[in-house]
Amino acid sequence: MAHVITRPCCNDGSCVDVCPVNCIHPTPDEPEFMTAEMLYIDPDTCIDCGACIDECPVSAIYPDDQLAKADEPYLQINADYYKDHDVDGGLVKHQKAPQLPDDELRVAIVGAGPAAFYAAEELVKRRQIKVDMYDRLPTPYGLVRAGVAPDHAKTKGVENTFSAVERKPNFTYHLNVEVGTHITPDELRERYGAVLYAVGAPHDRRLGIEGEDLPGSIAATDFVAWYNGHPDYADRDFDLSSEQAVIVGNGNVALDVARILVTDPEKLAGTDIADHALDVLRGSKVREVIVMARRSIEHGAFTNSEFLSLGDLEGVDVVMPDELVLSEEAAAAEADDSLDSVIATKIRLAREFAERPQVDGNKKIIFDFLASPTTIVGDNDGVASVEYVRNRYVGDGRIEPTDETGTLATGLVVRSVGYRGRPVEGLPFDADRAVVPSDESRVLDGTGGDRLPGLFVSGWVKRGPTGGIGRNRKCGQEAARAIVEDFANGVLPAPSRDADDVVELVTERGAQRVDLAGWKAIDTVEKTAGKQAGRRRVKLVSVNELESAAQSAGDGA
Ligand code: NAP
Repeated sequence: MAHVITRPCCNDGSCVDVCPVNCIHPTPDEPEFMTAEMLYIDPDTCIDCGACIDECPVSAIYPDDQLAKADEPYLQINADYYKDHDVDGGLVKHQKAPQLPDDELRVAIVGAGPAAFYAAEELVKRRQIKVDMYDRLPTPYGLVRAGVAPDHAKTKGVENTFSAVERKPNFTYHLNVEVGTHITPDELRERYGAVLYAVGAPHDRRLGIEGEDLPGSIAATDFVAWYNGHPDYADRDFDLSSEQAVIVGNGNVALDVARILVTDPEKLAGTDIADHALDVLRGSKVREVIVMARRSIEHGAFTNSEFLSLGDLEGVDVVMPDELVLSEEAAAAEADDSLDSVIATKIRLAREFAERPQVDGNKKIIFDFLASPTTIVGDNDGVASVEYVRNRYVGDGRIEPTDETGTLATGLVVRSVGYRGRPVEGLPFDADRAVVPSDESRVLDGTGGDRLPGLFVSGWVKRGPTGGIGRNRKCGQEAARAIVEDFANGVLPAPSRDADDVVELVTERGAQRVDLAGWKAIDTVEKTAGKQAGRRRVKLVSVNELESAAQSAGDGA
């Protein structure tokens, strides 16, 4: 018997750390780790000890004889990885921890999402390091709360890892406190030996085509934040009165949005989706979602696990083009059986979808490959159609437009072409890559410039908006190690002021700071309401409601 990793895999690699025979790959030390869709267990090496099952934060690992029917394809997906990856079993190597001075080090972390928490997890292991975590929202966990789709409850299991960190005695929350408004970046630097920015990439990338800003042309990043109850988006109004929706881009966010648009709202009603979104989805007229990708299936940016799971949606057909066009390189590699295993799985799954019969009356997710929108047509009343051009491959995965054009009638265009970082006050910014320039997590003074002592970055603001939640574990750990190393080597600037005044300072400036007790009170209010409604939680979606719930901690409620 062997163990098998399935869809919720978050890539955080915690299973790798506990595997005694090194049968889970790619490991965080292997180059492919940062681009891998998920982790895979080698069935020939696994000794079936179960350590990975206990450690997995998202319950993604099962013994092969206990797989649910829908997860059976993962037997092959796990085994296939080892067809073209020659990996060594053996002992996992651990780095020796540097010797630290006895002095106290205070670290400010700006942001409370996965990249912030994975760094904090590493830092709070050292008793002389105290972590203060700041977030402008009254709730922590970043994209785990505001990005992960509500029907992916298992992925939110990483919250257990984060809540173990927030309970440590050397960890303090300053939630509902905005850096730049209630405390300046300079004031942080004066008070902390190290400041780590883990502020993500909050904007959407732009298509740069005519009609992009018409009503009815929306950014997937906004739509996701809206259905997840992010307070900044709770008042947004999305019109779902069109029967056909077009999603541009084919990453995992595109698939999340497609799924949410066609899933029976009564199924979503059992999740923690925001109530306002559920109401709108109940009235939605959308029946067909076209996922428009500028390249073909071999370059699909979605992960195979998310692609596969579309097939489990009740009352929904996944429709593939009549002919699956591949690049010359992929077609040749397929012919001589040398295709990369992950791409081979993408193509195999697409062909399996194509063979499935379509059912009258079902909703549809329709994939259209090698097509790019050229104009979004409409007026102030909304979008009417999308004009597109057909593309062809010209080598090395690059495409060019052909003469073939077309028009799709639609009232809703969702632009899902990725997130984009924004400049962070007080830090240099690489506008081309939309990241803060850094070297081994240390902020650089301009691209390729000198290191700025005491300033660090982690997560999407450091490496760009790629990788799911767990990918930030390695990134956060690297940032934490950089801080610890600089502390050990005495190169962190000595603070000029004590950080004990920050609560008074931010309160004077109008912040209604939420601490751990306040967050726990919010959590209890939401979970209690969820329990009554048979849901995971019922999210509070306005800052006022969240602040009131947080205050109930002080009332002894
Ligand atoms: P993404 O994975 O980078 O996908 C962006 C998509 O937009 C790609 O298909 C890309 O095509 C396309 N695109 C970019 N510019 C375009 C243009 N000008 N015209 C047409 N298409 C364009 O981004 P994402 O979906 O926003 O996801 C962000 C990260 O979060 C990803 O790493 C994703 O895996 C992760 N995430 C994971 C999960 C999960 O694990 N379940 C869920 C959500 C998000 P090209 O490939 O041709 O550039």
